[in-house]
Amino acid sequence: MWSNEFDYTGPIEANMETGFLPRARFQALLDTLHQAGYRCVGPQVRDGAIVYDTLGKIEVLPRGIRDQQAPGRYRLEDTASPRYFSWANGPQALKPNLFTPHEALWRSERSTAGAIRFVDIQPPADLIAVIGVRACDLAALRLQDRHFLEGAFVDPYYAARRKNVFLVAVHCTHPAETCFCVSTGDGPHATQGFDLALGELDDGYLVQAGSDKGNTIAAKLPLVPATDAHRQTANQEMQEAARQQTRSLPTRNLRDALFANLEHPRWENVAERCLSCGNCTSVCPTCFCHSETDETALDGKQSLHVRQWDSCFTQGHSYIHGMTIRADTRTRYRQWLTHKLGSWHDQYGRSGCVGCGRCIAWCPVGIDITEEAREICQGGGHD
Ligand code: SF4
Ligand code: SF4
Repeated sequence: MWSNEFDYTGPIEANMETGFLPRARFQALLDTLHQAGYRCVGPQVRDGAIVYDTLGKIEVLPRGIRDQQAPGRYRLEDTASPRYFSWANGPQALKPNLFTPHEALWRSERSTAGAIRFVDIQPPADLIAVIGVRACDLAALRLQDRHFLEGAFVDPYYAARRKNVFLVAVHCTHPAETCFCVSTGDGPHATQGFDLALGELDDGYLVQAGSDKGNTIAAKLPLVPATDAHRQTANQEMQEAARQQTRSLPTRNLRDALFANLEHPRWENVAERCLSCGNCTSVCPTCFCHSETDETALDGKQSLHVRQWDSCFTQGHSYIHGMTIRADTRTRYRQWLTHKLGSWHDQYGRSGCVGCGRCIAWCPVGIDITEEAREICQGGGHD
């Protein structure tokens, strides 16, 4: 059934929180994480977008920044708000920190005598704390965990980064017009998968620990008791954030409806607009496709075996035994949608979409996954 009704997963309750961190003491969170050995990574404005990069001082955070998003459009604007997290999202958040866009896995070297040896490149061991993770990002991380850690083969590079990451979630109170995490059941309230979760208010942060690591850090913060007024405001803001969302996907399994419509004329219609650029797959926090290539040094003495993000929209992605299986945009877009919203249910027990809306905003021609799914499955959505 198509529905905009939301299943709100709040509220913040007194017995769930650890305390209140006044805004004037927010730097203490970064300092405490630094002292525990973490490199902090957090949101900041760069080239007109919210990006995540190394964060030493809270002054770098996007204070008072709001994002205006629409199909094919992303703009930031200044407001007088003292808040650091009053925006929805940027083109990336967690994914590049754990599944890196370009990574050398091993290298081969040729000695002067001509012998070739292969050298493993070890995964990194540094500790990273990511500040400002959204509920949709945590849901996407859970799916990436299923893919990289819980299949027949564990990916050692992802596993090493995953083990060493500390996650500071911030509940979402300012969804973009493109967000639809309520309909996928993944937001705006971060309920699990974090080490610390923050509810941002004008005067500070409700702090909740979600792990032993989180408790250890929270115990070192200059927290004061939260008030009922703090909790009430935070809950109201999150409920309002849920209510503001106007886009939706059906909350249930779309698999059968999509696969029953593989010859729907809408696939041709979307192919006439789609550029096959792959932006949607690059910004999607759940996409995991990659390709592997060898980068050879010009002197011929060394080569690097590299893994890099790939996309179901590239020609090479479906090149097998001398032919490209999905040679046109129609079949590539169909692969993206039927996999993301359909066969992910067979692979991972749920849809591959967490409702972040990034693929809508960052599509250069403004193709909207909710609209395409609705057109293709109209009358065929399954409860
Ligand atoms: S398909 Fe689009 S809206 Fe869904 S998780 Fe990926 S980028 Fe976000
Ligand atoms: S749907 Fe949009 S972002 Fe995705 S490949 Fe087509 S044009 Fe690019």
